[in-house]
Amino acid sequence: MKIAFYDTKPYDKIWFKPLAKEHNFDITFFETKLSRDTAILATGNDAVCIFVNDEADKEILDILHEVGVKTILLRCAGYDNVDLKAAEGRFDVMRVPSYSPAAVAEFALTLLLAVNRNVHRAYQRTRDFNFSINGLMGMTLKGKTIGIVGTGKIGQAMIDVLQGFGMKILAYDPYPVEGLKAEYVTKEELFKRSDIVSFHCPLTDETRHIVNADTIKMMKQGSIIVNTSRGAIVDTTALVEALKAGKFAGVALDVYEEEDEYFFEDRSNEIISDDELSRLLTFPNVLITSHQAFFTTEAMRAIAETTLNNFEASLKNEPDPKNTLTKRER
Ligand code: NAD
Repeated sequence: MKIAFYDTKPYDKIWFKPLAKEHNFDITFFETKLSRDTAILATGNDAVCIFVNDEADKEILDILHEVGVKTILLRCAGYDNVDLKAAEGRFDVMRVPSYSPAAVAEFALTLLLAVNRNVHRAYQRTRDFNFSINGLMGMTLKGKTIGIVGTGKIGQAMIDVLQGFGMKILAYDPYPVEGLKAEYVTKEELFKRSDIVSFHCPLTDETRHIVNADTIKMMKQGSIIVNTSRGAIVDTTALVEALKAGKFAGVALDVYEEEDEYFFEDRSNEIISDDELSRLLTFPNVLITSHQAFFTTEAMRAIAETTLNNFEASLKNEPDPKNTLTKRER
């Protein structure tokens, strides 16, 4: 059985190639992303395998359906890039809901520690033999309050790794879980009381621009934002204005609203036309990474295993409900 694999990077092949062989699947790796122009490349394949910045809107799904694709394999947890309404009944759309929550949580913590203590700037300075520590002062985290927005798998893993820091942990989630090692509060209270806010919710209509001019006003002067969720939960225009006004001690972003043009690619030889991304990168207290929170050996292996098991299950018409977003009518 054949899979058209979009947006391939060299590291995708490390696990997908040998595991596909074990399953007897034939994968064609395309470097291009899935789009209106490239959907046709899937002709003759039973499935497409896509990642966070591949588009699967109605028009693209129509093309995939026409060329005979039956299964859409998301090699990620988030699925905001797929029009599920348009997919229902026509495709098995399957994802990897959990591959390594710890990997993402550990990276969110890495970002927090780095941006708070200006490790990104210290690294640049010492490489230039500048051993001054002026401007690199951070805050001691012990005794501070951190707010966790979204207490699913990654939010809970984040709360676990925070346990040793001696911080007060607040949480907001419309679907609270029992026994959480944090205090649930309203969204407004979380924004008002937290010295740090870390986002672990999915991108939905409710969370789109959850960080906006109004909620930024609620946040503490000198607070820190960490976003490893999805870029569009932050209104970038409002964030840039707040940064210019000196609102935040630090902002660490692993995701960005308009990341699909840039993230995962080497654009170092090009003129950057995105003024907001360029502006964000000028602030000394902003640390941007290129959607790499998931990127560990363990997570990459788990993603490949689950994705190919999902295809196997789709072929047998036994899709695991946990991993299945829509089903194809047989
Ligand atoms: P999950 O489904 O286990 O948890 C998401 C939680 O968010 C749930 O508890 C849900 O109730 C909550 N939620 C829903 N709407 C909310 C709202 N309006 N406000 C607050 N909370 C809300 O998902 P997860 O595995 O923990 O992943 C969370 C998100 O992290 C994913 O949706 C994805 O966007 C992002 N992610 C990023 C990376 C990365 O590499 N940066 C990797 C994996 C996942």
